Amino acid sequence: MKRIIVQKFGGTSVADTDKIKNVAKTVIKEKNNGNDVVVVVSAMGHTTDYLVKMAKDISKVPSGREMDMLLSTGEGVSIALLAMAIQAEGYEAVSFNAMQIGILTENVHTKARIVKIETEKIKKNLNEGKVVVVAGFQGVTENGEITTLGRGGSDTSAVALAAALNAERCDIYTDVEGVYTTDPRVVPNASKLDNISYEEMLELAHAGANVLHPRSVETAKLNSVPLRVRSSFKTDNLGTLILGVDKMEIDRPVTGVAEDSSQTRIVVCEVPDRPGIAAIIFTKLAKQNISVDMIIQSYARKASHTNDIAFTVDSVDADKTIETLNSLKEELQCGEIQVDKDIAKVSIVGAGMIDRPGIASAMFDTLARLGVNIKMISTSEIKISCLVDREDAAKAVKALHEEFDLSSDVVADVKGDLPQV
Ligand code: ASP
Ligand code: MG
Repeated sequence: MKRIIVQKFGGTSVADTDKIKNVAKTVIKEKNNGNDVVVVVSAMGHTTDYLVKMAKDISKVPSGREMDMLLSTGEGVSIALLAMAIQAEGYEAVSFNAMQIGILTENVHTKARIVKIETEKIKKNLNEGKVVVVAGFQGVTENGEITTLGRGGSDTSAVALAAALNAERCDIYTDVEGVYTTDPRVVPNASKLDNISYEEMLELAHAGANVLHPRSVETAKLNSVPLRVRSSFKTDNLGTLILGVDKMEIDRPVTGVAEDSSQTRIVVCEVPDRPGIAAIIFTKLAKQNISVDMIIQSYARKASHTNDIAFTVDSVDADKTIETLNSLKEELQCGEIQVDKDIAKVSIVGAGMIDRPGIASAMFDTLARLGVNIKMISTSEIKISCLVDREDAAKAVKALHEEFDLSSDVVADVKGDLPQV
């Protein structure tokens, strides 16, 4: 049996027909290495954004089902064009959408999770010597309904396919040379990392680094799929390899700094200090499919027996969150609900911070020197996040990058957009 390599090309890599021809060359190069190749592609350029805009022009709240019908068309175009481009080079290729393959997802629209992938059809075509081109981002339910995996979901399609096919590796081709210590548009001398652990990458992805869809990293970690992020334009560069932390020598306390400006902070003031209150709030939000990130409950005020519960949500869910909380006001007997949209979460991530004291204090000290006020703090074993005013985020990222010695001597080569997640 030949080794299977799964390659994924994002929207910018297939933005026009010349770029698609270029992708075909990269695919063929891998095929000529003697491997079986499965290629996953996103929609061309900003197609998905454009489709979303059209839907919003027609309806403020388009139905999830029709949204998925619409958005899944983007990938339908790019798979067919790429298969043609490979054929034009004299190689055999065939494109499939998620329904044809059987990429089964849960019955949820616009952010479905993959539950199973049928591999029979792919294997049959690989055995016939063909390159198999698969539409990313889309899935199908048991009842034959089309779903999508959430914006940026093609990465997850690729990794899930690699896991199902027991592939040798999953290469995510994009328009940067790999994973950087921070966004090179904010810090031009950010360094490219040769390797990073799943755990760190997952924290960075959740912390706002727009390199990989967080669920793709989760899937890679669960299935131990070696993942490489590399440039579609400089294919000789091996990019960044993402692998298990146990396979790495950790010589740095901090691996990366990330900024996430897409969150909104909500504070539910003066909630009664008794059992069950947090459960009511967060159960109701969970039922609405709203995921919550940082949560802080204040120390109880003795006199009034109340405290405040603050948390952050993705800004796209902010209105729904406020609506939900308003509907709970009576039951909660709470005070006002405060909303702060002008915030950013700045995080430092590193598996090397475990058992190394002084990392948090160095972060807080750096922010203090800049006069940046910290509004919330949260930590995991390998991450420290601070919520700050959005206008302070860029200077905080620059200073932290400097503080933890992450800069390189060379200026990062960033062409056009960073990968769109
Ligand atoms: N085309 C989809 C999007 O723009 C999926 C992807 O690019 O990964 O979100
Ligand atoms: Mg993407």
